[in-house]
Amino acid sequence: MARLQIDNLTKVFEADSGPIVAVEELDLDIKDGEFVVVVGPSGCGKSTTLRTVAGLETATEGEIRIGDEVINDKAPKDRDIAMVFQSYALYPHKTVRGNMAYGLRLSTDLTDEEIDKRVEEAAAMMGIEDLLEKKPGSLSGGQQQRVATGRAIVREPAVFLFDEPLSNLDAKLRKHMRTELARLHTELGITTMYVTHDQEEAMTMADRIVVLNDGRLQQVATPKEVYYEPVNYFVADFIGSPSMNFFEVELETAADGGGRLVNESFTYEVSEDIVNNVQDRKSDLMTMGIRPESITPADETTPEGKTVNARVEVVEVVGSDNFIYLDVDGKECRVRTPSTIEPDIDAVFEITFDEENVHLFDIETEQALTHGTEKSRAVRDRDQEAPIEGVGGAE
Ligand code: ATP
Repeated sequence: MARLQIDNLTKVFEADSGPIVAVEELDLDIKDGEFVVVVGPSGCGKSTTLRTVAGLETATEGEIRIGDEVINDKAPKDRDIAMVFQSYALYPHKTVRGNMAYGLRLSTDLTDEEIDKRVEEAAAMMGIEDLLEKKPGSLSGGQQQRVATGRAIVREPAVFLFDEPLSNLDAKLRKHMRTELARLHTELGITTMYVTHDQEEAMTMADRIVVLNDGRLQQVATPKEVYYEPVNYFVADFIGSPSMNFFEVELETAADGGGRLVNESFTYEVSEDIVNNVQDRKSDLMTMGIRPESITPADETTPEGKTVNARVEVVEVVGSDNFIYLDVDGKECRVRTPSTIEPDIDAVFEITFDEENVHLFDIETEQALTHGTEKSRAVRDRDQEAPIEGVGGAE
């Protein structure tokens, strides 16, 4: 086990069309035993980061350290790292036992008995003892995934690297394997860097999530922080399904210290705390963000000045929840409601936003200005362990 540090990592590929900056000035400090999940859109540099840590790519600039040791110049096999790929990369002509033992034979002086013992222990851990004498071709996708993970475990590495290890499995098996990998991590406590494009995987497995865009780090934080307190517009938009709704608004301040967020479709009153938090904005216009589950039907308890008129376009039943797609003056607005709320198509639907979860972003810098009020921030700080409402169930 060890701490993994990435300092100022830049990776540039020289392509025929010119240089491609895949990763730019990336700093990451992954604690001993931590499970960190890297997410971001296709091409943002996730795999390149992982492959550079593994030694399959050379860093153009920057330093990678495991424990106290700089590993940039070490060959992949000497880095004390084990990697699990999306493709599993198993040798088709070797048995499961042969596949799991192969790396150990190459990189250690262990005796055959010692290797056998390690392979059998790892096989037991992955529940594949019965498959040891079979060839990969006769195994299901899930079984091959277990073998690939088992092969990484036998190495007893300081760091595990996973590159989309579950993306070839069907949804149900993926969920199952996700739980298995989480259990394995709890059992072994090995520092892990895990790349995925599946947000639910990231949200449910990670101690911390790393969000990349265009080769640059956007945010590294716990799943809750990334969800409830995205540092900028990109993270707010990228994390969450269905995604956050955005409206361009202007703030009109009121004599009592509060204010109103105004655009051509609605006027929404906000408290003094929100007004104070957006004082440093660069422009009068801001982007307001509100997650689908932070929008509710307005009723007689909704304060005046906090209702927004909408029209129902589509109602999607997804089980315990409904996703309602509304038209707010020509703009789509996604709402997540309990399944008991099933309005008619084309019906007028008055909604309100939960002020505690109204996000405001600077329209120029795209940086977050506020996430709700002081009150909601205090609740979130207290409530780090509870499940995230908007994650899961959207399949
Ligand atoms: P995906 O989710 O699609 O796998 P990713 O986030 O893992 O994407 P990378 O594979 O790291 O992204 O690629 C980052 C950028 O570097 C992309 O623009 C990609 O085209 C480029 N790139 C990656 N490998 C090479 C290479 N060997 N030669 C040239 N360009 C490369």
